[in-house]
Amino acid sequence: MSRVPDLKQKLVAMQRNLGLNPDEIRQRLRLLLITEARLPALQENLRQLDRVHLDCIHALFIHLEQFDEPAQQMQESAQLLQLQLEQQHYFRRMLRGPYDMQYARLRLLVGLKHQGQGLGLKWYLGAFHFYLDYMHTAIRREWAEQPLLAEQLYASLLKAAFFDIALTVDSYASADKMALQASQDRYSRALRGANDGLWEWHVEDDYLYVSERWSAMLGLDSKHAPMSFEGWADLMPEAQRLLFRSAVQAHLEGRQAFLHVECQLRDSWGQLVWVLIRGVVSTDLYGKRLLAGSQTDISQRKQAEQELAHATLHDSLTGLPNRQSASQLIAQALQRQRKPGARKAAVLFIGLDRFKLINDSLGHQAGDQVLIQVANRIERCLRPGDHLCRFGGDEYVVLLDDMALEHDAELVAKRIMQALQYPLVVDGRRLSVSVSIGVAPLKGQDYHQDALREADLALYRAKAFGKSQLALFSDRLQEEVHQRLNLENALSEALSRKQFELYYQPIVRVSAGRSKVVGVEALLRWWQDDRLVPPDEFISALEESGEIVKVGDWVLQQACTQVRQWQQDGLPGLRCSVNLSSRQLQEAGFARRVAQVLQESGLPATSLVLEITESLLMRDVPDTLATLRELESMGVRIALDDFGTGFSSLGYLHRYPLHIIKVDKSFVTKAPHDERLKAISRAIISLGRGLEMDVVAEGIETLEQMDFLQLEGCQLIQGYWFSQPQSAALIHPVLLRLSGVSSESVSAEAMLLQ
Ligand code: C2E
Ligand code: MG
Ligand code: MG
Repeated sequence: MSRVPDLKQKLVAMQRNLGLNPDEIRQRLRLLLITEARLPALQENLRQLDRVHLDCIHALFIHLEQFDEPAQQMQESAQLLQLQLEQQHYFRRMLRGPYDMQYARLRLLVGLKHQGQGLGLKWYLGAFHFYLDYMHTAIRREWAEQPLLAEQLYASLLKAAFFDIALTVDSYASADKMALQASQDRYSRALRGANDGLWEWHVEDDYLYVSERWSAMLGLDSKHAPMSFEGWADLMPEAQRLLFRSAVQAHLEGRQAFLHVECQLRDSWGQLVWVLIRGVVSTDLYGKRLLAGSQTDISQRKQAEQELAHATLHDSLTGLPNRQSASQLIAQALQRQRKPGARKAAVLFIGLDRFKLINDSLGHQAGDQVLIQVANRIERCLRPGDHLCRFGGDEYVVLLDDMALEHDAELVAKRIMQALQYPLVVDGRRLSVSVSIGVAPLKGQDYHQDALREADLALYRAKAFGKSQLALFSDRLQEEVHQRLNLENALSEALSRKQFELYYQPIVRVSAGRSKVVGVEALLRWWQDDRLVPPDEFISALEESGEIVKVGDWVLQQACTQVRQWQQDGLPGLRCSVNLSSRQLQEAGFARRVAQVLQESGLPATSLVLEITESLLMRDVPDTLATLRELESMGVRIALDDFGTGFSSLGYLHRYPLHIIKVDKSFVTKAPHDERLKAISRAIISLGRGLEMDVVAEGIETLEQMDFLQLEGCQLIQGYWFSQPQSAALIHPVLLRLSGVSSESVSAEAMLLQ
C-alpha cells in the first residue's frame, strides 16, 4: 500500500471536489459559447495549426528559458525534448477535442502534475498568454488571405484555451484546498487525540475565542465561556491569576519564548481543575498580535504529584508527617520565633518504652497497631496548631506552637503521659504502654537539628531515669552530655595509654575467732591526669561505648596473672574475683577466652570467681545460661554481686549456676540498727546456706557489723574493716598478714592501715 495517494486517487478526489460531471462540463462549454463537442473551424485546419504550434512551442521554450524556475525544469536536453513533445501533444488534443469528461480529466491531470512539481500557476498562465499572443499573430499571418477564417480560428482557439485554463486554474485551487483540508483533518485528529482545548486571544481587541473542548473541560456551555482575557483570568484563584498574568506579559514582551503555565480554573460546579496552558504569540494578516495555544487538563497528573509529595513527607503507617516534615515544620517555627513578640514554642521528643519487647513478643502487626493507637492518643492531647510527627521506629516528635508560657510544654507532656495510663486494646488483648518524653523549648536555635538534638538529649536523659519519665533540656544537661562525650573520648584511649590499674581488696573468712584471707576482688581504677577515678564514674560509659569488652579482658588477664603470682609467693589457695559486665558475657566465645587466660596465667580455674549482677540475669539472653554452665564445667565459680539491690528473684538463684551470693553493702551496713533489714539479711544468709552457696558480706566497716554477721553465721567478709582496696604492691603485705593470723590482731592491724 503506498502512503501517498497516487495521481489517479487524487484525480478522483479532485473531480469530486470540483463537482465535475457531464452536466458541469456542458455548463462550462455553454458559458464559453462552445456549442459542440468539437470546434469545426479548428477541425478543418488541423494540419496547418499543428505546424504553427511547433514554431510556437519553440518560441515558448526560448521565452521561458529566461526564467530560472522553468529553465531549471528544462535543463537536460532529453527532458527538454520530452517537455516539448508533451506540449505538442497537449496542443494537438486542444484543437481536436472532444471537450467531454475524458478531456476534462486529462486537463485536471496536467494541472495536478504541474502543481505537484511545484510549478506555480503564474508560469502556466504566462505560457498560455504567450501561446495566445503568438497564435494571434501567426494565424493572421498564415491565413492573411482569409481574414474571416483567421478570426474564426482565433476565436475558436480562445474558447478551447479558456476551457483549458479554467480547468487548470480549478485544479490548482482544488489541490490547495485539498491539501489544506488534509492538514486541518490531521490537526483536528491530533487535537482529538490530545484531548486539549484550544484558545485564541486577539491581544489588541481583547477578544478570546475558546474551543468547545476548552469549555467542556470546565463544564461550561458556549454562552458562559469567557470572551476576554480577564474573563479567563477570573476563573483562577487570586494568587494564580497574578502568576498567569505575569507569564502572559513575559511572553508578550519577549522575555519568555513560550507561554507555559500550570494553574487552576474554577469549573461550573465551583471545583478547581488543574490545567496546563501553553501558547505562542504571532501576528495575524492585519499585523495584530494573536496569542493562541492549548489548554490541557492535568488534574490526574497533579493528583499523582500531590500523592507522591504526600508520601515523601508522611509516614505510611500512621499517616503522620514524617522526619523530613518534622524538620521543615521546626525550621518554620524557628523562623517565626525570630520575629518580635512571638509566642512560645517547644519540641517534644517522645519515645515508647519497651517497644522492642512488644514487637518481639507480639509480632510486628501488633507493634504497628500500638504505634497507631499511641499516635491517636497523643494527638488527642494537642491543639489544632500543634503538629505530631512520626520520627521513625518508636519515636514521635511534637511541635508545640503558640504557647503563652514555656512551662505549658511540660503540661502537655504530662497530659500525653496521662493519656497513656489506660491500656491499649490490641488484637483483643489489653496492653499497657508508656512513653518517655524529652522537652526542648524553641529559643531561636540556629538550626532545626539543634532543637531536635536538644529534645532528643532530654529524652535520652528521661530514659536513663527509667520508664515513663519526663526530662527538660537545659544547659546543664548539655554540659553533662558534653562531659560525657569528653569522658568517652578520654576512656577510648585509656587502655592504650596504660592509664588503668587494678586495686585489690581482700575477702576474709572469719571463723571461730580466726580470720584468714581466702581471696581478693580486683577493682578497676583509672588514672586520669593524676586523678584516681573510681569505677562508678566510668564503668557505665565504657559499657555504653562497648569499650568494656576490651578493658574487661585486660582486667581478667591482669588479675589472673597477679593472683597466680601471689599464689606462688606464699598465698597458695588465694582466689581471684573479677567483675564482669553483661557485654562481656554476651561476647561469642567468652568461656573459651576465660579458659585461654587461665591457661596463659597458670591460675587454676577453681581459683577464679566471676562476679555478675542481677541486671545481667534479668535480660534473660539464652546464651548467658549456656556460657555460665560452660564456665561452671571448667571449675570457675560464679558470684551474684550486689544481691538485694535488684529484683532479688529467687528464680535466678535456682535457674543459673551460681555459687556465691554477695550481699550488697547498702544493705548489711544498716542492718544492725534496722530490725527489718536485720531480718532480711538474716534471710539472705540462711537462703545461701540452704542452697549450699557461699555468702559474702560486702562493705563491712565496723565491729558492730562484724558482730552481727558472726552472730548470723556469715563467715565471708569484705570491707574496709579488713582493708580498703589497694594497689597490688600495697595490698601484698596486707594479704600476707591476713593469712592465718588471729582476727583481733588482724583487725587492730587493719585499723592501723586505714
Ligand atoms: P562491687 O563489685 O560491688 O565492688 C565493691 C565495691 O565496694 C568497691 O567499690 C569497693 O571499693 C567498695 N567497698 C568495699 N568495702 C567497702 C566498705 O567497707 N565501705 C564502702 N563504702 N565501700 C566498700 P569500687 O571499687 O568503687 O567499685 C564499684 C563498682 O564498680 C564495683 O562494685 C563493680 O560493680 C564495678 N567495678 C569495679 N571494677 C570493675 C571491673 O573491672 N569490671 C567491671 N565490669 N566492673 C567493675
Ligand atoms: Mg564485685
Ligand atoms: Mg558489690
